[in-house]
Amino acid sequence: MIIKRFTFNFFQENTYVVYDEGGTDCAIIDPGCYFPEEERTLIQFLTNNHLIPSKVLYTHCHLDHAFGANFLAGEFPSLKFYAHEKEQANINNAEEQGRLFGVSLQKPPSISHYVFEGETIAIGDNSFTVIETPGHSAGGVCYFCKNEKTLFSGDTLFAGSIGRSDLFGGNGQMLLDSIRTKLMTLPDDVTVYTGHGYPTTIAEEKHGNPFIP
Ligand SMILES: [Zn+2]
Ligand SMILES: [Zn+2]
Repeated sequence: MIIKRFTFNFFQENTYVVYDEGGTDCAIIDPGCYFPEEERTLIQFLTNNHLIPSKVLYTHCHLDHAFGANFLAGEFPSLKFYAHEKEQANINNAEEQGRLFGVSLQKPPSISHYVFEGETIAIGDNSFTVIETPGHSAGGVCYFCKNEKTLFSGDTLFAGSIGRSDLFGGNGQMLLDSIRTKLMTLPDDVTVYTGHGYPTTIAEEKHGNPFIP
């Protein structure tokens, strides 16, 4: 499995492209491209690697993770958008989120498939399991690939930090509960690809993250 990380928009959000060597299918996790040059960078990468995205997997639908959704829907008409049902509220209030942060954006496409705890989703030859981790956002999820020891944590867990819980759909106690019961119980050698900042591991966060008591 190959993971390509892009850092997009003024929130420095990580957008990931996940695919197999030699394959054409890919998933885009949290499409945050906002500026035209970011859209070009993403399309150029997909073209150069002969990739056609079949799915967008949202960890959650805060605006910084969804800026690129309309653009991608235009480029790839058969693209499906996966997110937890409780994230539809963040799609519906996207324009309001934009006003709060002083940026303009159109409402992203509706969610095509609601993901749920324990569901498995194929990307190329690998499968990812959905882990519900509410707290940063009401319908926040992480995507875990056991074979590849890989977790996409969105804004639930960061290297040395955790997500905010004061935004749309946030709840601090739920966030800590999610991290402790759902993420800190994963194997130590799992690499965590976060919604912002650099990747980390479960072991590093278990032992060195000051926000996890
Ligand atoms: Zn967020
Ligand atoms: Zn974010």
